[in-house]
Amino acid sequence: FDEIDAALQYANDDWEKVRGLLGGKGANLGEMTRINIPVPPGFTITTEACIAYLDSSGTFPDRMWEQVQDGLADLEKRLYKKFGDPENPLLISCRSGGKFSMPGMMDTVLNIGLNDQTLARLIAMSRNPRFAYDSFRRLIQMFGNVVMGIDDALFEDIISNKRLQAGVKHDTELDADHWKAVCEKFKTVFSRQSRHPFPEDPMEQLKRSIEAVFKSWNGKRAIDYRNAANIPHNLGTAVTIQAMVFGNIGNDCATGVALTRNGTTGENVIEGDYLVNAQGEDVVAGIRQTQNLKDMSRDMPETYHEFERIAKNLEDHYREMQDVEFTIEKGKLWMLQTRDGKRTAQAAVRIAVEMTMEGMISKKKAVMRVTPEQVDFFLHPQFDPTSLKKAEQDGNKLASGLNVSPGAAVGQVAFDADIAQAWATKENKKVIMVRPETKPDDVHGMLASEGILTSRGGRTSHAALVARQFGKPAVVGVSDILIDMSNRSMTVNDLEIKEGDWISVDGTSGDIYLGKLSTIVPDIKDPWLIKLLSWADQFRHLGVWANADYPGDAKRALDYGAEGIGLCRSEHMFFETERLPHFRKMIMTDFPLERRESLEALLPFQREDFAGLFRVMDGKSVVIRLIDPPLHEFLPDHIQLLKNLSDLKLQIRDAATLKHLDDLLEEIRAKETLLKRVEILRESNPMLGLRGVRLGIVIPELTSMQVRAIFEAACMVIREGGYVKPKIMIPLTSHVNELKQQRQVLEDEAEKVMHEHDIRVDYSFGTMIELPRAALTADQIAEHASFVSFGTNDLTQTTFGISRDDAETGFLVQYMESGILPENPFETIDREGVGRLLQIAMEKGRSVRPDLECGICGEHGGDPQSIHLCHDLKLTYVSCSPFRVPIARLAAAHAAI
Ligand code: ADP
Ligand code: MG
Ligand code: MG
Repeated sequence: FDEIDAALQYANDDWEKVRGLLGGKGANLGEMTRINIPVPPGFTITTEACIAYLDSSGTFPDRMWEQVQDGLADLEKRLYKKFGDPENPLLISCRSGGKFSMPGMMDTVLNIGLNDQTLARLIAMSRNPRFAYDSFRRLIQMFGNVVMGIDDALFEDIISNKRLQAGVKHDTELDADHWKAVCEKFKTVFSRQSRHPFPEDPMEQLKRSIEAVFKSWNGKRAIDYRNAANIPHNLGTAVTIQAMVFGNIGNDCATGVALTRNGTTGENVIEGDYLVNAQGEDVVAGIRQTQNLKDMSRDMPETYHEFERIAKNLEDHYREMQDVEFTIEKGKLWMLQTRDGKRTAQAAVRIAVEMTMEGMISKKKAVMRVTPEQVDFFLHPQFDPTSLKKAEQDGNKLASGLNVSPGAAVGQVAFDADIAQAWATKENKKVIMVRPETKPDDVHGMLASEGILTSRGGRTSHAALVARQFGKPAVVGVSDILIDMSNRSMTVNDLEIKEGDWISVDGTSGDIYLGKLSTIVPDIKDPWLIKLLSWADQFRHLGVWANADYPGDAKRALDYGAEGIGLCRSEHMFFETERLPHFRKMIMTDFPLERRESLEALLPFQREDFAGLFRVMDGKSVVIRLIDPPLHEFLPDHIQLLKNLSDLKLQIRDAATLKHLDDLLEEIRAKETLLKRVEILRESNPMLGLRGVRLGIVIPELTSMQVRAIFEAACMVIREGGYVKPKIMIPLTSHVNELKQQRQVLEDEAEKVMHEHDIRVDYSFGTMIELPRAALTADQIAEHASFVSFGTNDLTQTTFGISRDDAETGFLVQYMESGILPENPFETIDREGVGRLLQIAMEKGRSVRPDLECGICGEHGGDPQSIHLCHDLKLTYVSCSPFRVPIARLAAAHAAI
C-alpha cells in the first residue's frame, strides 16, 4: 500500500494541475473517456482562458475562438453531424465547472444549435415533434435566463398557464402542440425582455453562452459560496463543450443523479433519483417528483446493471465515493459527470473504513480522509431520548421527511433566507429555515440557520447537499407541510405554524417536532469511528491525555480514548457548597491553629476526590495541580459586599425589637470583617498576583494539606489492590528557587504519610511552565522537576501581555478582523512567539533531562493546528477536554503522517 500511496501521490500532483486547468468537471469527463466509460464527446476551454477573459474585461484571449472552432470541427467529424447544419445538425451543451465543485452556483446552457431550421430537421429525423419542441423551449429558456438575465419565473409562468389551459398536472402530459405554442410565447418574452430577437445563428449562441459561463464565475451566488466554502476567487471556471445526448425523447429515455454509496450513512449501496423522459436540469430543480433509482433496477434492468458496473468501475478508479450524473438515450447509458461525493461526517468515516477493508485504500489514507471537524460532529448534540418520547406522547411530532444531514436543531421558523440571516446575525435568534426547496441564492440563510427544512426535494437536492457539506442538520421532502408564503405560515395536518414559532428538527431520524426539545451529547459508539480512531492511534507519536477534575470526567475521557489525566485542577473542589465555608474560614483567619483546623476539615473531601480519580484511571498517570487561583476568587465580590452592608445599615432604623437590632449588628460586624479581608486580598492584577506557587509559599499548610490528601488517597487505593501514578504539579513557577522550596515542603509531607501507612507510592514531581521566565530557564527547572506541562493559556497571556478574560470580547476581535493578528492566539498557539518559547523550553529542559516528560494543558491541547505544533516540537502528550480527545487523537495522527 505504501507503494500505491506514493504512486497515487505522484499522480495526484499532476492531477491537481489538470483539475486546476480543466475544472473538476472537464478533467473528470476526460478521465472517464480515457478509461472507456461512455461519455458524449466534447472538449474543454481552460480556466486560464476564463481568467484572461475576465481580466481583459470581456475579450477572448488570442486564438481561443479559432481553437473552439477547431474543436467543434473535430466533434463534427467524429459524429458525422454538423453544428448548425440544416441537414444533420449537431447539438451541444456549454457547461461551467471550476477546480472545486460548487453545485449549481454557475451556469450551463443545453441544446445549443437549435433554430427554426435545425428544429424542423430534428422533428423530421426523430419523428418526435414533442421532443424537438421541448428541447427548443429549454434552449430559449436557458439562454434567456443565463445569457440575457431574463427572470426564469416569466418562462415558468407560461408553462404553468399552458398546463392549466390543457387541464393537466405535469409537464410530461403536455403534447407537441402545447410545446410548440410555448416556444412561440418564449420567443416573444425573449425579445420583449432583451430587446433582441432570439439569435438564430448557432455560432452566436455558442459564443455568447461561453461568455455567460465565464461571467458566471463572478456571479453573486458563486462569490457567496466561495466565501463560505473557503475557495479562492482567482481560479476561474473552465467551459466544457459537449455533444448533447437526450433523455427526453420518450419512455426509454431518462436522466438522473446518483451517489455510489449512501451519502448520509455511508452504507455501500447506490442511492439516487431519476426521471423518465426528461432533461438533466429537471432532476435537481425539484419541479417533478423524482423516482428512486431502485425503480430503475425494476423498469430498466439491463441499463441499471450497466450503471452499477460503471459506478463500481469509477469507485475503483478514483478510490473514492462518486457523485455522478447520467442520461439514458433510447436505452443507451451515457455518463455526464463524476466527482467525489459530498457526505456527512458519519458517512465519511464509514466509507473510509469500509474502503480500507475492501482493499481499496490504505489505513493511512483512511485516517487522512477524515477531518478533525468531522470527528467533532459525532460529539454534537442529539435530541434527548426522554424529550423525544415526551414530544411523541404529547402529540408534538409534526411530520417526517428525509433525514439528509444528521444532528439536532432547535429554532424559530423563518421562511426565507434574508429573514433567517437577519434574525440569526442581528437579533441573535436561533433559526430554522423552512422553504419549499432551496436554491443556490439561499445559501447565506442556510449558513445562518441552526437547521434546514424543506417540503420538497430528495436526497440529492440542493438543500441536502449544502446542509451536508456545512454540517447543518436538515430534513427535506416533508410533503405533509404546506407553506403559505403570502401569510408567512405553514400548515401541517391542520395545525398552523407562523413565522417565528419554535420547532425542533431531527436530522438524524428525519422527524420534526413542535416547540423546543432538549438536546444531549451522544456517546461515540459508532463502530466505524472506533475503528478509524484505533488506526489513528497506530500512526500518532503524541500521547492524548485529558483535563478532568472529577471521576465522572475521567471516566468519559477514558471512554473517548485518553491515556492519562494531564490536568486535575485541585481547587475546583473547594467551590462546592459543603467545602467553601471551611475554605473561607481558612482564608479569613490569621491564627495558624484555626487555619490548620479548617484545612483538616477539607482534607477528607480532597482525599475522596483524588481516590476516585485514581480508581478510575487504574495506574494511568494522573497529574494533580496544586491550588492555583488567587484567594479572592473564593470570597464574595467586593462591590456586592459593600452593597450588602449598606442595605443592612439601612435596616437598623426599622428594627422592631432589641433582639432584631442585636442580630443586625452582629451580621454587620461579620460582614465588615469579611470586607476587610476582601480589601486586603484585593489586587489590581490578580492574574499576576498572589496565586499559583506563590500561595503555597505564603501558606505552606495549604501545600501540606493537599499533598497529604493525595498521598493518603494513593495509599488507600493501593491498599484496596489498585494501581496509582500520581504526578504532583506546581503551577505558575517563574524561578527555580520557588520549586526547590515547595519541593521540600512536599517531600516532607509525602514521606510522613508514606511512613504512617508503611506504603511506598510511585510518584513524581513537576511544574507548569506558563511564564516566559520559566520557559527561558527550563534547564534549571528540569533539575528539580521530572515533568513539565505547558500552560499555554497563561503563557499566551503573559507573552502577549494581553489579558485573556478581557481581550476576547474587546480589542482582540478588532485585531483579528483587521488582520493585525492572523488568528486568535488563545485558540491556536502563536507559532512564532509562544511556540518559540515552547521550543526553547523543550531544548533546554531535555538538555538536562533527556527523558523529561513534556505536555500541554489548556484550550490549545484540543486544537488541531496547535496539536501539529506539539508534534513538531516532540512533546510527550497533549491534554484537552474529554470532548476533544477523539479529535486530538486524529489530529495527532495527521501530524505524524
Ligand atoms: P451543474 O454544474 O449545474 O450540474 P451541468 O453542466 O452538470 O451543470 O449541467 C446541468 C445538467 O445538464 C446536468 O444534469 C447535466 O447532466 C445535463 N447535461 C449537461 N450536458 C449535457 C449533454 N451534453 N447532454 C445531456 N445532458 C447534459
Ligand atoms: Mg452537474
Ligand atoms: Mg495557568
